[in-house]
Amino acid sequence: MKRSLPRPRPDPDPLVGPLLHWFAREARDLPWRHTTDPYALWVAEIMLQQTQVATVIPYWERWMKAFPDIANLAAAATDDVLKLWEGLGYYSRARHLQEAARQILASAHGEFPRTAAELVDLPGIGRYTAGAIASTAFNEPAPILDGNVIRVLTRLHALAGDPRSKDLNNRLWNLATDLVVAADSIPVRQVPKPRAPLRLAGSCSQLNQALMELGATVCTPRNPRCPECPVASHCLARQSGEIARFPELPARPVITRRTLATLLWNDRGRWLVRRRPDDAVNGGFWEFPNIECSPNQDPASALVTWLRLPPDALVPAGTLHHSITRYRFTQHLFKTVAPPGPTLPAGDLLWVNSAELAALALTAAHRRLVPTLAQPPVVRPARNRR
Ligand code: SF4
Repeated sequence: MKRSLPRPRPDPDPLVGPLLHWFAREARDLPWRHTTDPYALWVAEIMLQQTQVATVIPYWERWMKAFPDIANLAAAATDDVLKLWEGLGYYSRARHLQEAARQILASAHGEFPRTAAELVDLPGIGRYTAGAIASTAFNEPAPILDGNVIRVLTRLHALAGDPRSKDLNNRLWNLATDLVVAADSIPVRQVPKPRAPLRLAGSCSQLNQALMELGATVCTPRNPRCPECPVASHCLARQSGEIARFPELPARPVITRRTLATLLWNDRGRWLVRRRPDDAVNGGFWEFPNIECSPNQDPASALVTWLRLPPDALVPAGTLHHSITRYRFTQHLFKTVAPPGPTLPAGDLLWVNSAELAALALTAAHRRLVPTLAQPPVVRPARNRR
């Protein structure tokens, strides 16, 4: 890896004014930018982690309708919470939201914490999320540092090295702090939009959102639009022609391929599903029974052995692919109408009709295979007829 020589560091002050001006002009009109309700902003922040804005908008709107405040969320059935999160992935985030809502209500005052220092004690809220909520809801000069901000700052300052390494990470937090603290003394600007002016808590809120917005829309990972960048004249990476070098992220983890055999088991119009254990990935969500195959294991044989089904009871029903982090799953689907015997899979099981299935919170991968259920019925082998 190329080492950087020490370089002059852009002063935070000349960056803040252009960033605030640019944000006042270019801020996207997002639904959560019309509120300073910390609960609404918290939900948006959690949903936006690892997820695109366009995907989040309908989820956020549905969520806010179903659970308009902390009390509603705390009192909701966890199944209803998970159902509203279905398809967003990283489901522990939904559980943490509800857990934190209950914790806030049970605390001495039952009020939403107003500082990043208090917020960071809640489940599912790390330093970034605490800073984002405290600045956007309460205009606290609390820094934020997510992937977008890391990209902007490492390019602006031409910072070499892994941004997750302790030294560089501390330096980035310090730079983000300098900026938001410098913004604190600047009067807030109105951000007019066609529908209604955006409601922003103050210039600390605007500065942090400007940094995230710049990373999301202009200082993008590939082909950044530098001529449109409000701080281009201060950007050391641009001056040295090394933009593509920053940030110096570590190599991506090696992709691992995994194979699953999934059983779509129908008994007189009802399908068998089971709930994933609370402590598993996607805990609390429902799925069709499935088993991971070892390398070179035949998926049908894996199911037959697992559930002691007659070998000719399975009918192939297609293949689906999905990814979770570095894992690439191939899911082989089989249908059966074999009579349920004593060899049902262990766990929390349900036989559900189509309407009941639609109401359950299914993992995204298993929701995708629901259309397969409606495909031509499986003909039960003659010897298994009841
Ligand atoms: S000039 Fe280009 S590389 Fe530098 S911060 Fe702006 S968009 Fe990013």
